[in-house]
Amino acid sequence: MASNAAADHDKLSGKRVAVVGAGVSGLAAAYKLKSKGVNVTLFEADGRVGGKLRSVMHNGLIWDEGANTMTEAEPEVGSLLDDLGLREKQQFPLSQKKRYIVRNGLPVMIPTNPIALVTSSVLSTQSKFQILLEPFLWKKNDSSSKVTDSFVVESVSGFFQRHFGEEVVDYLIDPFVGGTSAADPESLSMKHSFPDLWNIEKSFGSIIIGAIRTKFAAKGSKNGETKRSTGTKKGSRGSFSFKGGMQILPEMLCKDLSRDELNLDSKVLSLSYNAGPRQENWSLSCVSHNEAQGQNLHYDAVIMTAPLCNVKEMKVMKGGEPFKLNFLPEIKYMPLSVIITTFTKEKVKRPLEGFGVLIPTKEQKHGFKTLGTLFSSMMFPDRCPSDLHLYTTFIGGSRNQELAKASTDELKQVATSDLQRLLGVEGEPVFVNHVYWNKAFPLYDRSYDSVMEAIDKMEKDLPGFFYAGNHRGGLSVGKSIASGCKAADLVISYLESCSNDKKSED
Ligand code: FAD
Repeated sequence: MASNAAADHDKLSGKRVAVVGAGVSGLAAAYKLKSKGVNVTLFEADGRVGGKLRSVMHNGLIWDEGANTMTEAEPEVGSLLDDLGLREKQQFPLSQKKRYIVRNGLPVMIPTNPIALVTSSVLSTQSKFQILLEPFLWKKNDSSSKVTDSFVVESVSGFFQRHFGEEVVDYLIDPFVGGTSAADPESLSMKHSFPDLWNIEKSFGSIIIGAIRTKFAAKGSKNGETKRSTGTKKGSRGSFSFKGGMQILPEMLCKDLSRDELNLDSKVLSLSYNAGPRQENWSLSCVSHNEAQGQNLHYDAVIMTAPLCNVKEMKVMKGGEPFKLNFLPEIKYMPLSVIITTFTKEKVKRPLEGFGVLIPTKEQKHGFKTLGTLFSSMMFPDRCPSDLHLYTTFIGGSRNQELAKASTDELKQVATSDLQRLLGVEGEPVFVNHVYWNKAFPLYDRSYDSVMEAIDKMEKDLPGFFYAGNHRGGLSVGKSIASGCKAADLVISYLESCSNDKKSED
């Protein structure tokens, strides 16, 4: 086995791969390729690595401006944490199971088991019965006959409504998708947003029965296999961050890349493919500090992880002719503002222990304007001095696209007003920080099949071109990492098949 791995390493060591984008997906791809002996060059438009992961340390405060936590549901994440020695830096939120939804203007804890559901005031008795009786009451999707455009698939709200009813959509699904993708359940495609549940319905009909069976099947197979690392056990511990914030992950992923391998401030403008003797067919050009840089280097393959809106702006050539990307559909992106505030503890009259609170759209009638707030220093007490509470509030998304763009002053008032209603904060925050992401999340809308088809077409028509990142297979940090690792595996197979073809020609 060891000699096979060494032989593979040797086979790949002369190969060169360009990775575009140093968000987690590009970094994970580059890390994996380098560990297999491939020569990697990473190009990042920004002056830093991490993309949507960005942590800030300032005057004794630590906060995240992008992703705040991640999970280890994907096996690729556990392997990376082990390989990077990041286990000891992992930070699990205190009382992370205490998460709240607003109902009738007040935060109510989300039930985490069937007994808690029965006693909870988050849903009416009728909805509770509908959940418990879902195996008998769920309805089939009869909308297929009404679908006129073959690309349009069922919405998230339509799917959950068939299984659990309207109130579950309004008070559980709507705040959840608002908090995790800044979208609304009516616009989102079920197939692309929750592919596991979509497939569970296909296999089992009932979501409850399917989820139970899938869980038991997974447990059975886990018991049968030898555990590679402590990862499996820790994976069940839910969301986590790292001491110092999420930024540590991208930093560790690129720590072994040399200055030649990691090109920051290097925005890729064009890519060119020329079919040759099946090697080093790719070249690219980028702009660095406003100066165009012709890249003389050639690559055997390219992993593209820039958002598709940026890819659309790139000039791509194939065999000396323009390869037009006009088949890439326009993607909608959700704008989002993140407001960090601190309040002295005595000014927070009803602090809540736990992870955070999400606000359903329906609760806007009580005056709420934010999507939700993370209780950042309740989760991670080392994120601010002990006399303060630190909060991370999200504003905008599809619910309030215009408000996302408002001034820091206006958004400070909006966040403070919601925190006043929810936690009884008094007066002005001690500290405020505002970040605006004009394209925080791509919207996996109901025509997203057309986006997936366009990505497949790019890969099919451009040999050695692979696309990864949060536009494919999921928005979360874990899913983006898995997508990057998968692209790296595909590149390795591609490079090996090129080597084998070349050998047989020789
Ligand atoms: P990105 O991080 O977008 O990386 C793409 C990179 O490509 C960028 O660095 C960009 O500068 C670069 N690039 C673009 N064009 C070019 C070019 N022409 N040349 C070179 N480089 C280029 N997920 C969770 O799991 N948990 C959370 O709590 C969470 N919270 C979030 C909160 C916010 C505010 C946001 C915005 C996202 C959040 N997410 C969360 C989602 C998650 O962070 C992202 O989906 C994920 O990090 C995306 O990684 P990526 O590598 O695919 O893309």
